[in-house]
Amino acid sequence: LRWVAGLGIVAADPMATPNFYAGLVLDRMAERRRDDEFILGLLAVPTTCIVPVWRGFNLIGTDSEPRAVFVTAGQWRPGGEVTFLGMAGTTAYFATDLSSLDQREAEARLAGIGQFVDLRSVGPVIDRQSGALLAYARGLAHWHARHRFCGACGAPTVSRAAGHVRACANPACAIEHFPRTDPAVIMLVTHHDQCFLARNRRFPGGMHSTLAGFVEPGESLEDAVAREVREEAGIAVGDVTYRSSQPWPFPASIMLGFRAEATATAFALDADELESGAWFTRAELRAPRQADSFRLPRPDSIARRLIEDWVAEG
Ligand SMILES: [Zn+2]
Repeated sequence: LRWVAGLGIVAADPMATPNFYAGLVLDRMAERRRDDEFILGLLAVPTTCIVPVWRGFNLIGTDSEPRAVFVTAGQWRPGGEVTFLGMAGTTAYFATDLSSLDQREAEARLAGIGQFVDLRSVGPVIDRQSGALLAYARGLAHWHARHRFCGACGAPTVSRAAGHVRACANPACAIEHFPRTDPAVIMLVTHHDQCFLARNRRFPGGMHSTLAGFVEPGESLEDAVAREVREEAGIAVGDVTYRSSQPWPFPASIMLGFRAEATATAFALDADELESGAWFTRAELRAPRQADSFRLPRPDSIARRLIEDWVAEG
């Protein structure tokens, strides 16, 4: 770790510290997911933890500092579908989705121990393990909500394998659907001692960030990096180097972080996507700035990490 003026402590080695929402220490026990007796046994243990999700929001205790709060199977027996997340030591964790209730009913069911909030609003301040666990639960809840019907025949699906499979209920089809994660590449474009940051039209005021985009079928990650940089900024890149990745279940992505070295500094923005873009030196990114004219991406994002790592190298 190094201290960088204007940025604070940053990691010099991209793999030395996991990104936010990554590095979850949990035994997912995939081999036991179809063992119904084992799963029901865990749900009968009073200390088993239930991670509630409501319409994409996670339960956060707000009595003091924001923190993840759980209910135990002893406090509250979940009805409906539950998803086995895994074991941390001797404690089992399950996710359940309360989206069919209205917010007040859902929070009342949980004895008022917390409120449902967007994980992104507290992700940077709650502890990293809790953030990763809540992200995992949120990602699976979203997948269940969007795969209630079979994409092949249209019949309803049912949860199987402790929530890690949705099986088509039509016996003539019976396809099993598995949780999906959409790969997205995110890249800091550099040219010697400058990096390229841009403003998407949807960004909050002043925020400048790296370029990013989804990987398309038939593309390698390197192809996707080069295509996105060319499409969005009109920049040709040569060397593309993998840095690190980050689960980003907002709603269903994994962000694959790269650095891409441009072959020249000329650029031409895609005006439908980007409203501005510019090359920045390390010194410019270290200098204190007006928050309303320039700010870095959110601290829990891999975009921020890619920028900080690069600044720390200079
Ligand atoms: Zn089907």
